[in-house]
Amino acid sequence: GSGSTGTDDSERTIAGRVDSQDSTVSDGENADPRCTRQNSVSSVSQSLREWDIPYDELDRGEVIGKGRFCIVYSGNWHGHVAIKELRMDYVNDEKTLEAFKAEVSTFRKTRHENLVLFMGACMKPPRLAIVTSLCKGRTLYTHIHVQKDKFNMSKTIMIAQQISQGMGYLHARGIVHKDLKTKNIFLESGKVVITDFGLFNVTRLRRGNWLSIPPGWLCYLAPEVMRSLRVVQKQDDGLPFTPYSDIYCFGTVWYELLCGEWPHKGLPPEAIIWQVGRGMKPSLANLQASRDVKDILMACWSYQPYERPEFSNIQITLNKLPKKRLHRSPSHPIHLSRSAES
Ligand code: ADP
Ligand code: MG
Repeated sequence: GSGSTGTDDSERTIAGRVDSQDSTVSDGENADPRCTRQNSVSSVSQSLREWDIPYDELDRGEVIGKGRFCIVYSGNWHGHVAIKELRMDYVNDEKTLEAFKAEVSTFRKTRHENLVLFMGACMKPPRLAIVTSLCKGRTLYTHIHVQKDKFNMSKTIMIAQQISQGMGYLHARGIVHKDLKTKNIFLESGKVVITDFGLFNVTRLRRGNWLSIPPGWLCYLAPEVMRSLRVVQKQDDGLPFTPYSDIYCFGTVWYELLCGEWPHKGLPPEAIIWQVGRGMKPSLANLQASRDVKDILMACWSYQPYERPEFSNIQITLNKLPKKRLHRSPSHPIHLSRSAES
C-alpha cells in the first residue's frame, strides 16, 4: 500500500500533538508529554500530603497496646484518636518509608461504616504514625476469649454480616486485609468496626531473622500462606495474602464466634502448620450447629483458594440462616468433621 508507514508516522505526530496540547493546558511551561506523567506522580504525593499530620499537632496519651514494631497510643487530635506509631529503632531505611506510604495511600481510600476511620498519618521519619478514630468498644477477641461472652445465634449472624459487609467493600476496592482476626474487630454498641486493614507489611514480620508467630495467628493462615512460611523470613519474603486468604480468616472468625474457642485447640504450632499445609481442616467436634452454619465454615476453609466463596455470597448465605440456634436433628449429627480435602 502507498505509504503505510507514512500513515503510522502521521498518527504518531497527531498523538504527540494531542499530548503536548494536554500538557500545555495543565502546565504552560512544559510541552514535553513526559512532564504530564511526572505531574500525575507528584499529584499522588500531593494528595498523600493532604493527609499528613504534623507530629507536633498530636496530643499523645497513654499506651494502649504494644507490638514488636508498633506502639498504639490513645490521644487527641480534634477529638479522641488512636495513634499507631512505628517504633523508631525500626524505621531507618527508605524501603520501610516507601512501604509505609504505600499502605497509607491504600488506607485513605476507605469509607465504610464497618471500617475504622482513617484520619491521617505522620509521614516524616523517624516519626511514622497512623491516626484513626479511637474504637470505644471491646474487640471480639476480648469478648470471646477473655470475657468468655456467649453470643446468641441472631447476634452471631449480625456480627458476621457486618464483617462481611466491611470486608466485601475492601475487596471491591481491591484491598486485601491480610490480618483479619478477632483482635482487629471491635464491637461498639452492636456495630462492628474492622481495623488494621492493609497494614501488615509495615507492622509485622518484616524485620528480624526469625519467624515470629504471635499467639493465635496460625489459626488464620490459609494453607497456601502456611506452606510459604519459612523459618528464616527474608525481608522481601512477602507472604501470599490474597482476597481468598482473607476469606479463610473470616472462616476462623466465624468458628470463634460459634464455638467461643480457637480452632485446632490444644495442638502445638508444628502440628497446625503440618496439618493445614496438607489440607486438613480443624475438627468440628466442638461445634453444635446446623448444616448450613457448618457449610459456611467448610467453604471458607477450602483448601483451594478459588473454591472459597466471596463476601457477597457469604452475605446471602448468612441472610438465609435461621436466627435461632437449631437443635441437632438426627439427620445432622455433630460429627461432621469432614477433615481432609472435602
Ligand atoms: P493487635 O491487633 O495484634 O492486638 P495492635 O498493635 O493492632 O495489635 O493493637 C495494640 C492494641 O491497641 C490492642 O489492644 C488494640 O485493641 C488497640 N487498638 C488498636 N487500634 C485501636 C483503635 N483504633 N481504637 C482503640 N484501640 C485500638
Ligand atoms: Mg490490631
